[in-house]
Amino acid sequence: MAAKVISGKEVAQQIRAEIKVEVDELKQKHNVVPGLVTILVGENPASISYVTAKGKTAKELGYNSIQDDQPGDISEEDLLALVDRYNKDDSIHGILVQLPLPKHIDANKVLYAINPDKDVDGFHPVNVGKLVIGEAIFKPCTPAGIQELLIRGGAETKGAHTVIVGRSNIVGKPIANMLIQKGPGANSTVTVVHTGTKDIAYHTKQADILIVAAGQPKAVTADMVKEGAAVIDVGVNRIGMTPEGKAKLVGDVDYEPVKEKASLITPVPGGVGPMTITMLMKNTLAAYKYSLNEK
Ligand code: NAP
Repeated sequence: MAAKVISGKEVAQQIRAEIKVEVDELKQKHNVVPGLVTILVGENPASISYVTAKGKTAKELGYNSIQDDQPGDISEEDLLALVDRYNKDDSIHGILVQLPLPKHIDANKVLYAINPDKDVDGFHPVNVGKLVIGEAIFKPCTPAGIQELLIRGGAETKGAHTVIVGRSNIVGKPIANMLIQKGPGANSTVTVVHTGTKDIAYHTKQADILIVAAGQPKAVTADMVKEGAAVIDVGVNRIGMTPEGKAKLVGDVDYEPVKEKASLITPVPGGVGPMTITMLMKNTLAAYKYSLNEK
C-alpha cells in the first residue's frame, strides 16, 4: 500500500495561522510586534531568494521585518558592529545572518556574536548546548520542521527506532539530539549514519522512522527501507540542469519506489522545505514572547 504523503505546505500553513492568532493577541496586549532582521551579505542568488521568502512570510504574519543588505566586500569588523547594533535594538527580537558569508569573513565569529536570546536560527553554541540538555528555546529551523511533520503527520516517535542519514551541524546532529530527549515528539532510540558507517543499509532497514539529510539523490533506495517506515526526506538536489539553467528538484530518497513501501513520506519539493521558514517565524515569536516575559 502506498504511503500517506505529508504535505509540508499544508502543515506550514496551519502553523502560520496559529502564529498569526498568537501575534495578533500579543500585539493587542503589548502594542509591540515581533521584529526580525535578516542580514544579507553580497548577491548570492540562492541567498537572495531565501531572504526574500523569509521577509515575505514575516510581513504576512504582521512582523516588523527588516532586510539589511550589505555589500559583499563589507569587512568582518563592520559586520560584527552591525550585529551588535541589532543586539542592542529592543524592536528586534530575532537576528538572522544569511549563510554562506564571503570567504574573508569568519562565519562562526559572526554567528557567535549574535545575542543568544535573539539567535532564531539556533546556531549559537549556547543554544546548541541548551538543545542537548533538553532546554532549547530555539530549535534549529529545519530539524524543528522535521519534528513538527512527525508529530502532525501522526508518526509515533516514542519508542521508535529513528535512523538519521547525515550528521551535519544544521540537520543531522540537532535532529538526533532532539529526538533522544525524554518528552513529547521525541523519546526515540536514535542511530546516526554517515559516510564513515560500515553498512548503511543494515541500519536504515531497521528504522521505524527514517530521516534522510545526505545531500545525495537516491542516497536511500527502496531496498534500504523497512516496510511501513515513516520517511522524512530533507534533501534538496538540483538535477538535469538545462542550458537555460532550469533543473529538476529531487530529494535524497528514491521517492516513487520508497513511497510504495513506507507508511508515511514527505515529498520534495513541498515537504520539509516549507517548514523551515515557518519554524524561523515560530522561533522569532518565541524570542518576542521571551522579551515580553510571555512564555
Ligand atoms: P551536509 O552538510 O552536506 O551533510 C551531509 C551529511 O550526509 C554528512 O554528514 C555526510 O557524511 C552524509 N552523507 C552524504 N552522503 C551520504 C550517503 N550516501 N550515505 C550516508 N551519509 C551520507 O548537508 P546538510 O546541510 O545536512 O543538508 C543535507 C541535505 O538537506 C541537502 O540536500 C540540503 O540541501 C538539504 N537541506 C534542506 C533544508 C530544507 O529546508 N529543506 C535545510 C537544510 C538542508 P560525512 O559527515 O561523513 O561527510
